[in-house]
Amino acid sequence: MRFPLEISSKLPKQGASIFTTMSALANQHNALNLSQGFPNFPCPPELIEYVHEAMLAGQNQYAPMAGVPVLREKLAEKTRELYGATYDAEKEITVVPGGTMGIYAAITALVREGDEVVIIEPAYDSYVPAIELNGGRPIRIELSYPDFRIDWNEFKKVINFRTRMIILNSPHNPTGTLLDAEGIKQLARIVDGNDIIILSDEVYEHIVFDGLPHESMAKYPELAKRSLIVSSFGKTYHTTGWKLGYVVGPEKLMREFRKVYQFMAFSAHTPSQYAYARILDNKALYHELAAFYQHKRDLFADALKSSRFEVLPCKGSYFQLLKYDKISDMKDTDFAKELTVKYQIASIPISVFYLSRRDEHILRFCFAKDDETLLKAAEILCKI
Ligand code: PMP
Ligand code: GLN
Repeated sequence: MRFPLEISSKLPKQGASIFTTMSALANQHNALNLSQGFPNFPCPPELIEYVHEAMLAGQNQYAPMAGVPVLREKLAEKTRELYGATYDAEKEITVVPGGTMGIYAAITALVREGDEVVIIEPAYDSYVPAIELNGGRPIRIELSYPDFRIDWNEFKKVINFRTRMIILNSPHNPTGTLLDAEGIKQLARIVDGNDIIILSDEVYEHIVFDGLPHESMAKYPELAKRSLIVSSFGKTYHTTGWKLGYVVGPEKLMREFRKVYQFMAFSAHTPSQYAYARILDNKALYHELAAFYQHKRDLFADALKSSRFEVLPCKGSYFQLLKYDKISDMKDTDFAKELTVKYQIASIPISVFYLSRRDEHILRFCFAKDDETLLKAAEILCKI
C-alpha cells in the first residue's frame, strides 16, 4: 500500500545555508576557502591537553544544565572585569552548545506568535528562521550604504506595541562594522519605557580593531537589564568545531531562557567546559586576540593594494568585504561561484543576507587564515 507522506514544510523556501553551499563548492574545486568563517590554524595546544585531562579525570557525564559551576564563575569574573557588569554565575549565565543554539533558545523562549522582532540587514542567517519557526514576524531595517551604519530614525519608525525583541550584532557579520557609543545612546532612548528585549549577538566581542571599544550591552545597566547576550568560545579560541558558547542576562530573562534550553540540549559538552574554565585564567589570550586579527586584516588589505577590488573598512570580526564593481557587473552569487570555480578562491556573496537580495557587488572574505593562505588569496585576487 502506498503511504502518502505529504509534508507541509515549516521552512518551505529554506535551502542549504550559504556557508554550507560555498564550503562544499570550495572543496569540490579545491579552492582556497575564505567563505565560511573558521580559522585554518590550530587552537592553543594547552586547550586540547585540558580537554584530555578532564576526560581522563572522569569528567565524562552530563554537566549541570546551566554549565559547570567553575566555568560560570570564570565567565562572571571576565564579564565583570571587561564590562563592569555583575552577573550571578548561578542564575544569570548559561553555557550552551554554541552561539547558534543560544540564539535559537533565546528566540524560542521569548518570541510569541505574532510578535515583531527587529533585525538589521545584512543579517546573520540564523535569526529569521528562528523567529519564523516561533511564529514571530521579522521586521527588517537595512544598514545604510556604503558605510553600513544603523539609521536610528528609520529604526525608531518600526518600533511599536508589537515589538517584542531587537536583535543586534556587534562586531557585525558580515560587514565588520561596530555599534558605537552614539548608537548605544540612540538605542537606549528607543527602548526606554517599554518592554522590548534585546538579543545581543556578541560572538566576535574580542575581535575589535584600531583601539576601538566593544560596546557590549553588559556595559550599560539600562540596556543590560533587558538583554540576553550571546558569546561563543569558538571565535575566541579558534575552536569553531567544538560548538560551545554561553548566554548572559538578568535572572528574569534567564529563567525563561533555561525553561526552553533544558529541552533543547539540556547541557553542553562537559570536558570542554572544564578546559575553557582553565584557559580563561590566561587573560592574555583574549586580550591579544584583537591585535592578532588586526595583523591579518592589514596583511590581507596591503596585499590587495594593486588589485581591482575595493577594500571596504573593517573595524571588527574576521571578515573583509571586497567590492568588485570595477571588475564585473555579475550578480554577487554568480561572481562568488565563478571565483571559486575559475580562480579557486571561495567567498560569501552579501546579497544572501538581505530578504530583498540587495546586491552592491560585494563579497565577504574570512581572514581567519594563516598568513601564507592570506597572501596566496591576495595574489589570486590581484590577477582578477
Ligand atoms: N552569530 C554570528 C554573527 C556568527 O558569525 C556566528 C558564527 N557562526 C554565530 C552567531 C554562531 O556561533 P557558533 O558557531 O558558536 O554557533
Ligand atoms: N558564522 C560562520 C560564518 O559567518 C558560519 C557558521 C555556519 O556555517 N553556520 O561564516
